[in-house]
Amino acid sequence: MTQDIGFDTLQIHAGARPDPATGARQVPIYQTTAYVFRDADHAAALFNLQEVGYIYSRLTNPTVAALGERLAALEGGVGAVCTSSGHAAQLMALYPLMGPGKNIVASTRLYGGTITQFTQVFKRFGWSCTFVDTDDLAAVEAAIDDNTRALFCETIANPGGYVSDIPALAAIADKHGIPLVVDNTTATPYLAKPIEMGATLVVHSTTKYLTGNGTVTGGAIIDSGKFNWSNGKFPSLAEPEPAYHGLKFHETFGALAYTFFGIAIGLRDLGMTMNPQAAHYTLMGIETLSLRMQKHVANAGKVAAWLETHPAVEAVTYPGLDSSPYKARAEKLLPKGAGALFTVALKGGYEACVKMVDSLELFSHVANLGDARSLIIHSASTTHRQLTPEQQVAAGAAPNVVRLSIGIEDGEDIIADLAQALDKASA
Ligand SMILES: *Cc1c(COP(=O)(O)O)cnc(C)c1O
Repeated sequence: MTQDIGFDTLQIHAGARPDPATGARQVPIYQTTAYVFRDADHAAALFNLQEVGYIYSRLTNPTVAALGERLAALEGGVGAVCTSSGHAAQLMALYPLMGPGKNIVASTRLYGGTITQFTQVFKRFGWSCTFVDTDDLAAVEAAIDDNTRALFCETIANPGGYVSDIPALAAIADKHGIPLVVDNTTATPYLAKPIEMGATLVVHSTTKYLTGNGTVTGGAIIDSGKFNWSNGKFPSLAEPEPAYHGLKFHETFGALAYTFFGIAIGLRDLGMTMNPQAAHYTLMGIETLSLRMQKHVANAGKVAAWLETHPAVEAVTYPGLDSSPYKARAEKLLPKGAGALFTVALKGGYEACVKMVDSLELFSHVANLGDARSLIIHSASTTHRQLTPEQQVAAGAAPNVVRLSIGIEDGEDIIADLAQALDKASA
């Protein structure tokens, strides 16, 4: 095939080929820890990174590699590193860029666990994070200093329905010689391709829509291959690496430097590796990603529009609604749809939220999103509990707000369930 291969074809075929040993059509689960070397020279060449191959499954595994290749193809990157979770992916994405005294600038509108990681965990590494309203581009510029090593945002911020202006943020990152890292979990590469909009790195919690049925946790980092790591700010990638006998990753591997570093140093030394079973479930999920996202988006649009007119509802933050301040940006950056995750503020406050959550029958009350089934959570008492009240409001998780992750059931059934629960909540 010589033409540009379409998304629906790539989601099934990228990274997969009939198994060379057996002809197995589906990617086998290579349930092995280690791989037999042909001889001592082969082993030495693998350890020297002179030859690419399999050594030990903390570093690489063929099932996990197939997933990495598929994700790189779908996001338009040159390589990917799969990790044990989305949080591992974030930490691993930043690890090659950071060092004690270095900082990142990140959006205030992020997944609650990410805000906790960036504030609490960072400190123990001597890193720091400055949070800014990324709609205020002047504030973003002002927050970047000589020690800033990345700019970080989410495509559609979880949970508030904020759409990040990725092209504008990428331009600022470029100007300052730092990568823009985009968490594309809630949009998926079907709805948005951050790399085409100028991002350097994309991170994912594959736990969510990519796997799509709430079975396994996982994460991934995809590199655009376009960043100049030798601009003086990134010694781990540009200068001799003491943890790898003085190898200079950028000089040696060019566009693949970041991916090779992620495997050879990141996975080898931090060990936040995806296991082959998880990779298998996620490969299966991705085969139907576009079909599921179309249904997620269609249902979310219907449900959000219905909720907005309900007397018990104060506000709905779905970026696909005319009332959303992000509608125009969503149409421009997310032409296939604004995702399926949004929040609803109830006039009845905290009490009504709890009553609604407890009254739903089809929806599951869980700390997850991006599942085939519809999910709900009261963020302020759960995922965003560790945040201060000000952080909760800034992240779109005020006490009178519930977050919905709209599934791919029949839209009418989702609405009927919400209708009966809202009746009870406002009784
Ligand atoms: C879930 C999630 C994460 C964390 O991923 P895990 O797989 O749970 O570690 C990060 N970012 C976003 C946007 C998420 O939804």
